[in-house]
Formats: sequence, C-alpha cells, structure tokens
Amino acid sequence: MSEIRHVVIIGSGPAGYTAALYTARAQLQPLLFGSSIFVGGSLTTTTEVENFPGFPQGVDGPVLMENMRAQAEKFGAEMVDDDIVEVNLTGDIKLLTDSAGTVHRAKTVIIATGSGYRKLGLPNEDALSGRGVSWCATCDGFFFRDRDIVVVGGGDTAMEEATFLTRFARSVTVVHRRSTLRASKVMQNRAFADDKISFAFDSEIAQIKETNGMLGGVVLRDVFTGATRDLDVTGLFIAIGHDPRTELFTGQLELDSEGYIQVASPTTRTSLPGVFAAGDVVDHTYRQAITAAGTGAAAALDAERYLAARG
Ligand code: FAD
Repeated sequence: MSEIRHVVIIGSGPAGYTAALYTARAQLQPLLFGSSIFVGGSLTTTTEVENFPGFPQGVDGPVLMENMRAQAEKFGAEMVDDDIVEVNLTGDIKLLTDSAGTVHRAKTVIIATGSGYRKLGLPNEDALSGRGVSWCATCDGFFFRDRDIVVVGGGDTAMEEATFLTRFARSVTVVHRRSTLRASKVMQNRAFADDKISFAFDSEIAQIKETNGMLGGVVLRDVFTGATRDLDVTGLFIAIGHDPRTELFTGQLELDSEGYIQVASPTTRTSLPGVFAAGDVVDHTYRQAITAAGTGAAAALDAERYLAARG
C-alpha cells in the first residue's frame, strides 16, 4: 500500500503548480500529476505572454511554466509526468490511480485539470496558434493593432471578443454558421452598433492560409451554396467554446450544466469534503493564467485549513 499523502494535485498548469508551491511551502509534501503528454498546461502552446505580472518584457509561455514548476520543486513538491486515469474521491481517504495502475492515497485532492478550447479541426490551425490564430482576445488582442481580423462564433464569448478586438483592429468580421446569433440581445446589439464589426452569416471557415509561417488569410464557405470567397485577414480568433476536463469526476462531484466543477465560491471547496478545485476547470468567466494561479493558491490554503481542522 502506498503512503497516505497530505495532498495530491491533478494538473500542471498555473493552478496546479501554484497549489504545489503553496502546499510545499506549508510542509505538506504535495505530489502533483501533470499529464503524460501535455506537461505545463495551456500556456505551453503559446509564445509570448505579456499579461502575467512581474515580467515587464513579457515571457515565453513554456518558460513561465518551467519556472513555476522549478519554484514548486525547490520547496519539495514532487512532480510526476503521468495521468490520473481513475479516482475515488468519496471516502475519507481519496484514491487516485495512475496510468501504470498504481493507486495513490491522499487526505486531500486539488483538481486543476483545466479546459480545452474547441477547435475548428482544420489543417494549419494548431501550427499557426500564436502566429495569427488565437483563442483568447484578452491574451492576444494587443498584437493585432490596425489589422483585419475574423472572429468565429455566434455566442456571448464571440460577441465579447469581437467587441473587445475593435479597440485594436481595423476591422472585425464575425463568421457564424447560422443566420442568427446565439448571443444575448445586449451583446448582439453592442456588436451590431459597432462600425468596425461586420457579419458573415451562414458561413464557415473552409481553409486557413499560411504565408511565411504566419496566418495569410482565410477562405469562407457559404454553408448553403458551398460558394467560397477569400477573406484577407491576419488574425483569426476562434470563439466556439471550451470543454472542461472533468470526465474523471462525473458522478462523484457536482458539475454544472456545462461540465465545470462547482465550488462554494469564494472558496475552492467542491461538493466532497477534502476535494478542492481551481483554475479553468471551474472558471467560465475569467480564464486567465493569473486567475488560475490565484485560485490555485486559494485551493492550497483551503486544503491546508481542512487538514489543520481534521488534526
Ligand atoms: P491548464 O493550463 O489547462 O493546465 C491543466 C493541465 O492539467 C494540463 O496540462 C492537462 O493536461 C493536465 N491534466 C488534465 N487532466 C489530467 C489528468 N487526469 N492527469 C494529469 N494531468 C491532467 N492566459 C493568460 O493569462 N495570458 C495569455 O497570454 C494566455 N495565452 C493563451 C494562449 C493559448 C494558445 C491558450 C490555449 C491559452 C492562453 N491563456 C492565456 C489562458 C491560460 O493558458 C489558461 O487560463 C490557464 O493555463 C489555465 O490554467 P489551469 O492551470 O487551470 O489549466
């Protein structure tokens, strides 16, 4: 039987690493499982991060994540580059199984498994991420001053992204598969009233073009007629939603209608005692590295207090 750990953390993004740093400094000897293929989380898929405080020149996403990991390790956090494939969180002692079938035992668990942006599924999409293709206007809008941009999606997020991007862009074209938007009326009206925003309804992106390693435009296709046309843009923002990584916890933890873990805000407590959740796996709204790190710290403090109260 494995030893019973004070805390096991699942996830190696800003939330998981920050939780590891705080619990390590609290002498709780955390064990963190950070995935077998995607160590370091979402920021490892981007280049320049300009909005994480403390880096006036910006910082490379993978470098930021390596530094977060090293900082937690310095205080004794133990990192395993493997997946947790099964959990039983309902008992007093939580059971977590890794990909080799080893069962790990813990008094508390911090879930920081993040979420994935939905993709269009087109060739070039991943290769041009950070090179004209983005999933986050707050993160990348600043790089698109005086550019022509296309935003894909018809919900509130797409309208918010399009409206936000007009601060920087010369023009924003919203591409939506249907003839009406799903976004709330308020968000729609704001977008319709904006001179910089135009709409391509009943349309989808048929092709993402590359020029010298950067986005070189897109081809739009009419979903009814199949007719295509070129759109000369240097920015493509994809706002068609995201999926929290919560399959492991279904049936054990309370999730909301979109599959995000529900916590007793402002704490990180989930529906099960001793189980805490932080970062994008609980967050519909902010979805930033700094907010994930912030709730990771909160989860560590919540776990620490839970353990102290248990004696
Ligand atoms: P994540 O970073 O998603 O990390 C979760 C980790 O947990 C992943 O590595 C995942 O593989 C792992 N995991 C999941 N399930 C398991 C399991 N069962 N076992 C083990 N490990 C598991 N934010 C900013 O603030 N500024 C930016 O400039 C910025 N740019 C971005 C650019 C891109 C391309 C993307 C995709 C996101 C960007 N973001 C940016 C958003 C930011 O990356 C996220 O908000 C943040 O990373 C969320 O952190 P997290 O710790 O909650 O989850």
